[in-house]
Amino acid sequence: MSGRSFLQIPGPTNLPDRVLRAMDRPVIDHRSPEFAQLTEDVRVGLRRVFGTRDGAPMLYPASGTGATEAALVNVLSPGARVLSFNYGLFSGGLGAIARKFGYDVDEVQLRWGQAVTPALVEDKLRADSSSNPYDAVLICHNETSTGVTVDIAGIRQAMDAAGHDALLIVDTVSSLASMEFLMDEWRVDIIICGSQKGLMLPPGLGILGVSRRALAVGAQNGGSPRHFWDWEPIMRENRIGLFPYTPATLMLFGLREALRMLVEEEGLSNVYARHARLASAVRAAVHGWGLSTVCEDPSTASNTITAVRTPAGVDSNELLKHARERYGLSLGGGIGQLSGQAFRIGHLGSLNELEVLGTLGGIELSFADLGIDVEMGSGLLAAQRAFTSAPARVPAFAAAD
Ligand code: PLP
Repeated sequence: MSGRSFLQIPGPTNLPDRVLRAMDRPVIDHRSPEFAQLTEDVRVGLRRVFGTRDGAPMLYPASGTGATEAALVNVLSPGARVLSFNYGLFSGGLGAIARKFGYDVDEVQLRWGQAVTPALVEDKLRADSSSNPYDAVLICHNETSTGVTVDIAGIRQAMDAAGHDALLIVDTVSSLASMEFLMDEWRVDIIICGSQKGLMLPPGLGILGVSRRALAVGAQNGGSPRHFWDWEPIMRENRIGLFPYTPATLMLFGLREALRMLVEEEGLSNVYARHARLASAVRAAVHGWGLSTVCEDPSTASNTITAVRTPAGVDSNELLKHARERYGLSLGGGIGQLSGQAFRIGHLGSLNELEVLGTLGGIELSFADLGIDVEMGSGLLAAQRAFTSAPARVPAFAAAD
């Protein structure tokens, strides 16, 4: 196929050429002054993205799942009580991982498409009559399987209102660097992330942001048995520019470049505004098609992922297969209980208006090829109108240059 293919899955996302070029270089000595500077630059940039002044970034050659394990085992001891909420594959995954470590997990089942609300968290904490209070509340900020975003500031306020000071551990794998996150202001104790979505890198880094409080809790209660995930040796070695294991050297060069683009050049508030704008055009298109999103409440709709319900009788897997094979357009499938019933459009990372329109156009062509009853052009027109009615703060092309 001539031309480029379209990777519009909900991550991994497209790599800017600059990030690729930054990684296209010889590996350097990871015990050299140059590497120490690279580590420091990356840590400074990550703090900005986390929204923290003194939280500690931890980098693992791993993925988001690895980072989740790292978050849990450093602060929770065997038998720890954990509150979690299942409103999709990844929020459910948090509880499932915690259970495997033998923690006592209390999971609240919601509909996939709902968001966990501050009111629900408050109710659940108030109703807990155990003499052994929860040690941690686990929340997925942006549920990638359903395209639902949770109000993290509100969750911490709800915990305060219930008089509860459990650790707040938040999965930001599909939101960080695309949606505003204010770790200090929202008093989030641990942020869990990976490199392959908003940070515009290939998969391969598991990333944590750890508050001073979480470090102290871990040091005090000892956490669970661990070696690779232990953050104490990482902090000790990072202080002198080293890692306790061989770091993913070239990924760190890519991360420094991505952070320069996001933090220093485009500016985080513009990055978040761009994602909000692209997302509202995608949602306008879904509305134009006459289809519905998996997300039930529009006020919780994600700015990075939209999960769209396919019309009755249409297998979303067939749509995905056709879009990929005929147009080189990769979309996310419905996962878990949504398999066959929904498809997901990733609109995060290095992305601009025309790429969104190309994606929507490819979906419309696929609808038409498969005889799916959606009016051709209805989504594209709605998205174009959304773009023209709300001009960009910064032209996306200049930003992505
Ligand atoms: N959490 C969320 C919200 C995700 O979207 C993903 C992956 O897509 C994960 C966790 C797991 O991360 P990884 O696949 O990098 O291990």
